[in-house]
Amino acid sequence: MDSITAGELSAAVSSQKLRKIIHVDMDAFYASVEQRDRPELRGKPLAVGGSADGRGVVAAASYEARKHGVHSAMAMRKAVQLCPDLAIVRPRIDYYSKVSKSIHEIFRAYTPIIEPLSLDEAFLDVTATAHLYGGAEKVGIAVKSRIRDELSLVASVGVAPCKFVAKIASDIRKPDAFVCVSPADVLRFLEPLPIERIWGVGKVTARQFRNRSIRTIGELRQLSLETLAELFGNSAQHYWELSHGIDDRPVVCDREAKSISSETTFHEDIADRSILESWLSLLVESVARRLRNQELTGRGIEIKVRYSDFRSITRSMMLQQSTDVTNVFLEGAEALLRTKVPDDGRSVRLIGFGIHHLSHEEYRQLHLLDEEDTIKPRTIDAISDTIANRFGRGAIQRGKSKR
Ligand SMILES: [Mg+2]
Repeated sequence: MDSITAGELSAAVSSQKLRKIIHVDMDAFYASVEQRDRPELRGKPLAVGGSADGRGVVAAASYEARKHGVHSAMAMRKAVQLCPDLAIVRPRIDYYSKVSKSIHEIFRAYTPIIEPLSLDEAFLDVTATAHLYGGAEKVGIAVKSRIRDELSLVASVGVAPCKFVAKIASDIRKPDAFVCVSPADVLRFLEPLPIERIWGVGKVTARQFRNRSIRTIGELRQLSLETLAELFGNSAQHYWELSHGIDDRPVVCDREAKSISSETTFHEDIADRSILESWLSLLVESVARRLRNQELTGRGIEIKVRYSDFRSITRSMMLQQSTDVTNVFLEGAEALLRTKVPDDGRSVRLIGFGIHHLSHEEYRQLHLLDEEDTIKPRTIDAISDTIANRFGRGAIQRGKSKR
């Protein structure tokens, strides 16, 4: 393998030693917001999601519900079987989006470089600003305590020299966790972790590793790049770098981003098309809302499907014109799923949706002009958003997102 030289490697390592990345992940976000606002739900098993009668799925489960084995992406019907006392609340995505904005205001007090991954999860790059607050660890602690004090919500926070490690750090002692990994501790931190922690290592790859008695990231690190290349071809470099704690992906602000997207990994692979469509519509709604929150329109849409064997496909299309209307995105996304993703019975472990070709200019024009053909759907969006905000998402349903 000559794709990375020792010089480049040490440059990567040393430049990364200077980076300070924080990953913030809200604990059981939707469920915690509902429990915060409705005291009668506190301490009770709660699932936010669709109905147990139809094909509804769990979008978020409180920790009380998780003790019964209820988790997100599970069919609500199954969740109720596992936990007959389960309280079910319809999601209020618009409201969670507002709460998410308040969380971002706290982030912005410490850095302008914020990359949201979803409403409840974000990377912060505090490399340039941490010294103002006494270091990255202090920023992490401050963010966590301000979220608790000002919003009565609990976040798990990881601080590390790169995204890969920061994300694991926030997750490893969830809930209510704070884990700070210094550059000197990165290898020791990664060593005992199961190889499944490496992004892209799923059941199939993990089995290949296990056949060679490799179960942990530390054991993986013992393999040379050459050996890895023989086993995994193009992915070798990726595994080698991450096992050495090397990940130089930058934190990319949404405003700079060329696209806005979101994806969901299921705990259990899903073969049922109508459940997939349900998830897709939830993703489209949340991505479209992020788009509008940032006063953007988009013209390109993309869906991503990863099968249980980890093969992924992405399919994209351009809309007739740039828009911020949820229904237009939804129709496009569903058309892509139906026409470009063969329904061949294979089960799916991840589905994603993204909007690209973003424009501030188009957004401003759209909202200035309110042309005949755009005013109607946009009014419908605004009215349904308002109703959903006041009475909850269950009060109004898009025809195509029956859950
Ligand atoms: Mg979370």
